[in-house]
Amino acid sequence: NSLQLGKLSSQPTQIPEQNDLNLTHLKGRCPEDFDLLSIIGEGSYATVYLGKYKTSGKLYAVKVLDKRHMVREGKAKYAAVEKEALRKLSPHPYIVRLYYTFQDTYKLYFVLGYAKNGELLYYIRKLGSFGLDCVKFYSAELILAMEYMHSKGIVHRDIKPENLLLCENMHLILADFGTAKIISLVQDDSPLGRVSSFVGTADYVSPELLNYKRTSISSDLWALGCIIYQLIAGWPPFRGGTDYLTFQKVSNLDYTIPDGFPEEAADLIKQILVLDPQQRLGSNSRGGYENLKGHIFFEEVLWEQLHETTPPELK
Ligand code: ATP
Repeated sequence: NSLQLGKLSSQPTQIPEQNDLNLTHLKGRCPEDFDLLSIIGEGSYATVYLGKYKTSGKLYAVKVLDKRHMVREGKAKYAAVEKEALRKLSPHPYIVRLYYTFQDTYKLYFVLGYAKNGELLYYIRKLGSFGLDCVKFYSAELILAMEYMHSKGIVHRDIKPENLLLCENMHLILADFGTAKIISLVQDDSPLGRVSSFVGTADYVSPELLNYKRTSISSDLWALGCIIYQLIAGWPPFRGGTDYLTFQKVSNLDYTIPDGFPEEAADLIKQILVLDPQQRLGSNSRGGYENLKGHIFFEEVLWEQLHETTPPELK
């Protein structure tokens, strides 16, 4: 009696990556194996529970997606994309780990590594802004996550503080690959084709998506630039009273560097927040990740040892 999401969908052509939506590929577990203890997060099409694997007592984040809701909203492909992206990327220290996927009649389940310390957004709201050592540390960890993800041919397309999670020992974990784009090989910053609808979040959306409905690996770099700015200033660089006004600011590169902003950080931001995706620091045509990581702002960062380093205290 198990529903196949692909068969339910009224728009099967919306599933370009694969039509295997029977998420039993990583076999061996079922919903009854887990106690869902509490809700730890809610997204637009998923509820995330703290789940305990009954046999071992080990804790996981169990992301539960409602099949009918997803089909109704035309989001059936999101589950397939998320699964495929995580299967390509897991395991990696900075990417949320996918352990199992399974389904029952109405729901799809993703059993993920549990990021015990929640969203980076929580700390941004609590602290306003971060000390420079924290900005450097967390932006460096995000850069390593992006470098790896892009090397595997995956563009995230919704990098924002809600999707940057913190594990038990406060290292960064990139999550939520539902709106990712999977391409076989990222050789340059060439656009990935037109997107039919807005993906992403207003504050971090790139100008090329707004103006040409195109994204590339550089669109993730734009979001990185917005986040580094936000961690220092306390607010994102482009923020209008409405999404429309925010979009106008993005399109016009209408942002200001506040007084007292560290000079090296300002230089970094100016080189990342560039309208032309190919001119963005970190894009392949601007020397790729090597050049980005070589920027003076990251001078003290020990890239190779970052994951073994104790994160600076968030303050
Ligand atoms: P969106 O509306 O942004 O597309 P979504 O429906 O895809 O969201 P997620 O972003 O994956 O759902 O998860 C929603 C929230 O659940 C996250 O913002 C986070 O707070 C929490 N969450 C997700 N995965 C984990 C995890 N592995 N560990 C801890 N918390 C998590």
